[in-house]
Amino acid sequence: MLFIRRYFDLPPLNDIVAAVASNSHIKRPTALVTFDDGYRDNYELAFPILKSCKVPAVFFVPTDFVDRPSLPWWDRIAFVVKQSRTDIIEMKFPEQIAFDLRTTPRKHVVKKILDLYKQHRGRDERKFISHLEEQAKISPPPHVLAHRWIITWDEIRNMISAGMSIGSHTHTHGILGGMDEATQARELRESKTILERETGQPITTLAYPVGSTTAFNEITKRLAKEIGYSLAFSYYGGVNWPEHTDPFDIRRIGVEANESMSLFRTKTVFNSLFGKAF
Ligand SMILES: [Zn+2]
Repeated sequence: MLFIRRYFDLPPLNDIVAAVASNSHIKRPTALVTFDDGYRDNYELAFPILKSCKVPAVFFVPTDFVDRPSLPWWDRIAFVVKQSRTDIIEMKFPEQIAFDLRTTPRKHVVKKILDLYKQHRGRDERKFISHLEEQAKISPPPHVLAHRWIITWDEIRNMISAGMSIGSHTHTHGILGGMDEATQARELRESKTILERETGQPITTLAYPVGSTTAFNEITKRLAKEIGYSLAFSYYGGVNWPEHTDPFDIRRIGVEANESMSLFRTKTVFNSLFGKAF
């Protein structure tokens, strides 16, 4: 964060929203730090660092998970696959499919089962999870299930008081690009309403869950605008050129947990120089 602070302008979210809305050119290398999913460590670990380095960040929160002591479904599936002691997970529901853990890396199996789950969302999700746990012969232990994984409304309000910003990450972390129009609209509207009620602030930004090029589409962008969002963030990479910024596809550069400082530095400097050249 000190590195970013030194080499970039770090305006708060509202200034960036205003700059994009008025088409005013941002001339110097500018960065916005964002976090998706609202994990509790955003508050406990990241927030104190951001505060002490005076970096205003944005937290995109799926509203259905806030203040709820439950393991989000994607983490529950990952837990079960990673901890499974069987060689083969043989799913008979919702379709016949087997995953060989001896020959396929577990993170690939996690991704495949998450894809299967996403196709099946809205129909018997509990049955899906309990069938997976039966076939993998493991369930998360009670202390994992009861742990509070996601931040609370009070924590969100504390972060806002300290200069941080909040945006929507839909209500249920649904993959908007795979949903019909009415469901997309509900996800976008419901999360905005809840966030505004809980924070007392207008919510004008959104990060598409997953954020890949297929995680949202032209309908999503139109709906987001109609429902009152001003900016929406994707997550497939890239920087935002002053002249070519789509307010409903603001590019982000991923920073993964195991990334070294030298890689982060190289990536960041490269993008800043590249950005300046245009
Ligand atoms: Zn997410």
